[in-house]
Amino acid sequence: MTDTVICGTIGLDDIKTPFGIKKATLGGSVVYSAFASSFFKKPGIVSIAGKDLSKENLALLSRVDLAGLSFGKKTFRWQGVYEYNMNEAKTLKTELNSLAGFSPNLPPSYKNARFLLLANIDPEIQLKILKQVNPKALVLIDSMNFWIENKKEALKSVIKKADIVLFNDAEAREFFNTPNLIRAGRELLNLGPEYAIIKKGEHGALLFSYDRFFSAPGYPLEVLKDPTGAGDSFAGGLIGYLSCSDKINEAQIRKGIIYGSVIASFCTEGLGLENLIKIKLKDIKERYEVMRQIREF
Ligand code: AMP
Repeated sequence: MTDTVICGTIGLDDIKTPFGIKKATLGGSVVYSAFASSFFKKPGIVSIAGKDLSKENLALLSRVDLAGLSFGKKTFRWQGVYEYNMNEAKTLKTELNSLAGFSPNLPPSYKNARFLLLANIDPEIQLKILKQVNPKALVLIDSMNFWIENKKEALKSVIKKADIVLFNDAEAREFFNTPNLIRAGRELLNLGPEYAIIKKGEHGALLFSYDRFFSAPGYPLEVLKDPTGAGDSFAGGLIGYLSCSDKINEAQIRKGIIYGSVIASFCTEGLGLENLIKIKLKDIKERYEVMRQIREF
């Protein structure tokens, strides 16, 4: 039985940053999220890839359960470029390919999952997953500007059904048409979720709940090579930590946010997945302790 299910994209990414270039490298929201989550427990993924996915790429996915993976013709492709402001990816091209006709089917072994991360993917696919999963599952949802601009109403419907919603700062501003992140956080809660998290790239994250507020620092990195997948790793780290917690409350979510930030910091230190592949839980725990010291005053 799979306790943590993550639905999102498997992609072949072309990435260009001031520090390097990667072509057709394995990426996608479910890949980064599931890698991050797998430091805690092996998650199951729901996604679609294409027949063009190499054996090496499939081998990389061996640390996650693939019962919910299907195959179409061509893998989703994304081309992004970063300039010196590494908080903002410029999307040059998005090719949905097999994702365009994807109708997800939850394998029986996933149906009783207690944790569901709807990572960045078409919100209509997110809604289809929500109809199939255990109604008591804790639901986290993440998205991006592409879906805000193309499927805002469907995305709103998903947010209304989620327990925890994650946006980055630019997405939150765009969704609510406001420059103010505190207002955007409050508006997110007004849609229904119990918690709203706004990620601020290398500068940390904000957590909003009905009557409380938490501001998490970013890990002080001197080397930041490629932010691709940082948001997805953050979400995966958070749900991975929560899946190992005895109960879900704000204190645990705060800790999960720190784990998510730490894993995201490792992710950004390498191009594509290269650093996430190398690190161990021990490395993550060391940085978690540094984060605890940063917060003391
Ligand atoms: P992040 O940097 O965490 O926002 O996510 C980067 C990953 O998102 C890349 O590996 C892309 O393959 C994937 N991606 C890019 N555009 C989309 C999209 N419209 N829907 C889902 N995933 C996407």
